[in-house]
Amino acid sequence: MDLLRVLEIIPLPSAATCESIPSLVQYIHDAVLATNQMDLISQFVVLWFAVTIAATVGYFAATSISYMIFFGIFRDYFHPPHEPQPFKGQEWLEAKMSMIAIPWLSFLTIPFFIGELKGHSKLYWQAENDPLWYYVVVVSAFILFTDMCIYWIHRWEHTFPLLYKYIHKPHHKWLVVTPFAAFAFHPLDGWAQALPYHIFVYLIPMNTKLYISLFVVVQLWSINIHDGVDAVGSRLGSSASQYVNGSLHHFIHHTRFDYNYGQYFTIWDRIMGSHYDPKPDFDTGDFNLPKQNYNEGMHPADKKKSK
Ligand SMILES: [Zn+2]
Ligand SMILES: [Zn+2]
Repeated sequence: MDLLRVLEIIPLPSAATCESIPSLVQYIHDAVLATNQMDLISQFVVLWFAVTIAATVGYFAATSISYMIFFGIFRDYFHPPHEPQPFKGQEWLEAKMSMIAIPWLSFLTIPFFIGELKGHSKLYWQAENDPLWYYVVVVSAFILFTDMCIYWIHRWEHTFPLLYKYIHKPHHKWLVVTPFAAFAFHPLDGWAQALPYHIFVYLIPMNTKLYISLFVVVQLWSINIHDGVDAVGSRLGSSASQYVNGSLHHFIHHTRFDYNYGQYFTIWDRIMGSHYDPKPDFDTGDFNLPKQNYNEGMHPADKKKSK
């Protein structure tokens, strides 16, 4: 296995370019590609720096585009004034929480990456002999496994008061969220909910390119479920919305707390009796929100949970 080849997909500067910016970029290039020769602390620091920068840039690029489209240009269509709104300036507070979380989240995640770079996981690079059915099976297994694990991790964060109060409550600070809330977690919360992805590739053989692609897709999914856009037809009661944990399902999780813990599907919510169809709330206009200050941590259910 040549897992270091994964780093070859990172666009790196040419030698000529590096001569003009010799220090930092060249150091990262040499250091990351020469991980076998590096001491563990140097490798950790270089990866931490690179992952934090990449995650920050990716977060701002994706959330900004989503916000500009759904809360900017087409706001009246996707979030008409008679529906619950985030409060003014909230997106900055969500982004601030995310900015604080990302470096810590990267710090906690690097040990998994180092293990993968050193060949301890079941990731592999050669994909020439992978048949089509392999992709169907492994992607299905990846999604079903992580969906199940995240359901239980998330549900336990709500079930145990200390876990909720100290780890998960920051993500529930705002009841009507924007895409910028996608990474607005306590670092331990974000790390815990990402654990299933790392565990999966230590258990099941997976192509490295596929893993990286899916890792990017799940980050985009996290942004997608915080944009409040009814992409799966929940308001119409579509069949897709019965099984896909879309944005309005996650909207309900933020407004009613004890429902819709899932990530991609409603399967585990349905099995465990925590599913809540968003359609009635949007039909009746009753969103279970306090009349005032509903976006400033004043929700009665939230106060009860945080005791
Ligand atoms: Zn929650
Ligand atoms: Zn959320």
